[in-house]
Amino acid sequence: MTLVLANAHLIDCVRPGVTAGVSVTIEEGRIVEVAARGGTRPAGAQVIDLGGAYLLPGLWDVHVHLEWPRIAAAGVAELTVQYAANAAQGLYESGVTSIRTAGTPHFIDVALKRAFATGRLVGPRIFAGGWFLTTTAGHALGTGFARTCDGPTGFVRAIREQMENGVDHVKLNLSGGVFGPSWDRHWHSFLLTEELEAAFAICRQRGYPVMAHATNPDAVKAAVRLGAHSVEHGYIMDDECLTLFREHGTWYVPTLGITHLTPAQSATSFESCWLEQRGLTPDIVKRAEDAAPEHRGWFAKALHSGVKMALGSDLRPLRDSALLEMELWVKDGATPQQTIEAATRHAADLCGAAADLGTVEVGKIADLIVVRDNPLDDIHHLRSLQLVLKDGRVVADHRQKARA
Ligand SMILES: [Zn+2]
Repeated sequence: MTLVLANAHLIDCVRPGVTAGVSVTIEEGRIVEVAARGGTRPAGAQVIDLGGAYLLPGLWDVHVHLEWPRIAAAGVAELTVQYAANAAQGLYESGVTSIRTAGTPHFIDVALKRAFATGRLVGPRIFAGGWFLTTTAGHALGTGFARTCDGPTGFVRAIREQMENGVDHVKLNLSGGVFGPSWDRHWHSFLLTEELEAAFAICRQRGYPVMAHATNPDAVKAAVRLGAHSVEHGYIMDDECLTLFREHGTWYVPTLGITHLTPAQSATSFESCWLEQRGLTPDIVKRAEDAAPEHRGWFAKALHSGVKMALGSDLRPLRDSALLEMELWVKDGATPQQTIEAATRHAADLCGAAADLGTVEVGKIADLIVVRDNPLDDIHHLRSLQLVLKDGRVVADHRQKARA
C-alpha cells in the first residue's frame, strides 16, 4: 500500500524553513520519495491532498510521566489503563508520536512500549525508563513512581532490576525539586559520592544511558562528569556546567514548564486552562516562581552557547505537555525553528533514533503530523492539527472537525 501526501508545505527539520508544493510518498511505513514538484504517483496509491497545509515530523516529548488524572490509591490495573489512555490521547490530539519516560511505576511504560510497538494498542513510540530511582528522603516520593534505594549496593541492585525488566535507560535522581515537601529542595544534592559512582558504573558497564535529574551546579557537574546521557531541569547552573555539557556532548532537557507555569506568569488561554486543571498549591507556586528567573536565564545561555538540547516537558497530560513546553521555549527566546527541531530531530537523536526518525527524509519512518497554519510564523499554530501519521498510517484525522 502506497500513500502520497500531496501539495504540502514541508518543514522537514533537515534544513531551516518551509518548502512549498511538496509530495511525500510512503511505502511500508517509510518515506520513499520527497518531491519538490509533482513527484511520482504509483498506480493504486492513495493520495491525500493536503491543500497547502504544513507537513512536519511527529512531535516528541523526552521527559514524560504518564499519570493523569491523579487518582488516590490507584492500583496497577487502574494506572495501566490510565497511562495507555493518556499516551494515546497525546498521539491523537496533539501529534506526539514518540516519548521518553522519566519515572513510571511497575514498568507500565515497558508494557505499553511493547503493546504500541506491536500494534496491539495504538499509541506513541516509547523509550522506557521504568522507576524513578532516588534515595530515602529523596525527590518525587509522593508520586507513586519513585523507588528508594540507599548505599552503593542499593543503587546497583535497583538498576540491575530495571535492566532485567526491559528499560531503555535509567532515570537517576541526583537532587531535589520544585514539587515536594520542605526537605526536598532543588539546591540540595542527595547522593553520596560512592552512591553516584556505583550507580553510574553499573549503567556504564551495561551500556545504559543515564537520564539524570539534576537541578543545581553540583549535581549537574557530577552527572556530566560521570557520563550522564542527558541532564534534566538544570534550574540553577553556572558557566562551568555549560562548558562541561559542550565538552562531554551531554544533552540538556530544560523542562521549563515546571517553574514557568504559574498563574502570575501565565500568558495564554492554553496556560490558564492547564493551570485550572492542575490546581497547584500556593507553596508550589511560590517555589516555582522563585526558581523561574534563574531557570530562564540558564535556558537562554545554554541555547545560545551551543549546548545540545531537546524538548521534554515533565508536564501532564501528554495532550498538553509538549505544546505548552514548546510555547515556553519560544517565550524564553528560542525561535520556532529551534523549538520544532528540539521536539523532533534533536529529541530523536537524544533517544538514539536519529537514523529512523525525527526528520522528513527518504528512508525514515513516516511518523508525521500535518497542521493547517505555519508553526514557524507562530508556534501556537501547532495546535491547528489536521493529521497524525504513525508508521505511515493515518491514526488521527481532524480535518472534518477543523472545517466545521
Ligand atoms: Zn520528571
